[in-house]
This record gives sequence, C-alpha cells and structure tokens, in this order.
Amino acid sequence: MDKIIRCITSDGAVMASAIDASDIVFTAKKLHNLSRSATAALGRLLCATSIMGNMLKQKNAIINLRVLGDGEMGAVVAVGDSSGNVRGYVENPQVETAYYNSGKINVAQAVGKNGTLSVMRDYGSGDPYIGQVELVSGEIAEDIANYYATSEQVPTVCALGVLVDKEDGEVMLAGGLLIQLLPGADEEAIEKLEQNVAQLDPVTTMLAKGMSILDICKTALQGFEVEVLDENPVNYVCGCSREKLERYFMTMSDDDIRSMADEKGEAEAVCQFCNKKYVFSKDDLERLIAEKNA
Ligand SMILES: [Zn+2]
Repeated sequence: MDKIIRCITSDGAVMASAIDASDIVFTAKKLHNLSRSATAALGRLLCATSIMGNMLKQKNAIINLRVLGDGEMGAVVAVGDSSGNVRGYVENPQVETAYYNSGKINVAQAVGKNGTLSVMRDYGSGDPYIGQVELVSGEIAEDIANYYATSEQVPTVCALGVLVDKEDGEVMLAGGLLIQLLPGADEEAIEKLEQNVAQLDPVTTMLAKGMSILDICKTALQGFEVEVLDENPVNYVCGCSREKLERYFMTMSDDDIRSMADEKGEAEAVCQFCNKKYVFSKDDLERLIAEKNA
C-alpha cells in the first residue's frame, strides 16, 4: 500500500516529505493504458501532486497541477486532496517514448521544454489561488522546484521517480521527495542540507534498496534531528459519480444539454480521470431539464 510522510527538523529549519506511490502510478498506467513516457510523466506529476496536496492544511482543499509543454504528450494533469489522494490523466497517453543514452526515459522530449506549469489551490471558498511558471526542463521535478522558488519564494529540492520495467512497461516503483527550507534556516543548516542533497540517490533507487519513506527523509536530513509530523496511506481516488455529473448538467442551458444527445437521444459521458462511462437516456436528460427549470 502507498504511503506518504511529512517530517520536520527539530530546529524548524527544514521540512521534508516523501511518498511511495508505486500502486498509484501502477493504477494510473492501467486505467489510461499509458506509454512508457506517459507513465513516467504522469507518475512524476502524481507523486508531486500528492505531496503538495498533503501539505494543504484545510480539510476539503483541492490542488490541481497542469503541465503543458509543446511536445507530443499534450497536457499532463493531476488533482489531489488534502489527504494526498490523487487522480490524473494525460492528453496523449500513447505518446512515443524516447530514451536518453543513459537508458532513462526522455520525459522532457515527450512533454516539451517550452510551456507552463500551473498550480491551482482551491481551499473551498470558490476563489482559487492560481500560480503559473514557465517550464525549465519538462522533466517535472525541476519544474516543481522552480515553481516554489519563483512563485512562492520557498527554496525547494524536488526529486520524483518512476521505474518502468524495460520488457513489459509495467510500473515497478514510483516515489517522490520534496525538501523545503523554512524561514528558520541558518547558513549552517543550508550547507548541511546541500551536502546531503548532493549525495542523495534517486528516489526509486532508495525504494529499491528497501528503504522506507521515513528512511528516505532521514537520509535527506542527515545531521538534523528529525520529527515525524504525520504518515498516512494514499490512493488513486476518483470521486466521480452520476450525481456529480447531474449537478454539472444543471449548470448548462437546456439547448446544451439536448445537444449532447446522439441520434438515439442518449448522452454518454466518460470520466477523464478513471474512464468510467455514464450513460444518460433521453428520459434522463428531459428529467434533468425539467428539474433544472422547476
Ligand atoms: Zn472518475
């Protein structure tokens, strides 16, 4: 089962959060039949979104991350809640996969290096906070770190990894690590952290060694006294339902609702996040229109 953890150093200088999202990314790959590069890109974004969602303090808050580059992948979208549960999709799930000479999947090529990363946080007030930065690499982890540095002025280190089986493209391991300097950090703490970060293995390498997410945080925060803030399970969760769709239809005009119907008078809606199909008969649609205008 996937888990996420948040830690802080006792001196209040550094926060670290790590996730093992292997099952989440496995589920995403299966749901969307993702190519290797789409698996890596969406997997990384899901890890980041879970960590960032889990950092929201408000209970019903939602975070939405969207990477849109000029590559063949199209948009990569992930949505998370304040418990770290996530869902997502890729515009072109079958995007071709290229590799670096090192054998690593070239995510930047598929995503494209020119584009934007948008972060939307909705605390439930209906007035979401939106930030947007230019992509710096298209590899996603650097783009997340750059988002925090530029848009929120928080010095951040981000590492995200998805390990895909070379033979069958299945997800073997996926995880992420986010480290942030807090306002209480002094020069000594910064230096110590920089040394640690320079020596860190990739997240999937640490997971493959059998390290727990707590081990990963402690390694990143070596030399500091580490306190665990919280640790909880996380899942791929899509909250779609027939009722929610109906509520959405209620915001549309009569003509727009009728125009969704096919020759048989039926309308079909497919959830982008989990591919669940909802069919509305002619009678269903007319009932909705009647209820809406009642
Ligand atoms: Zn769904």
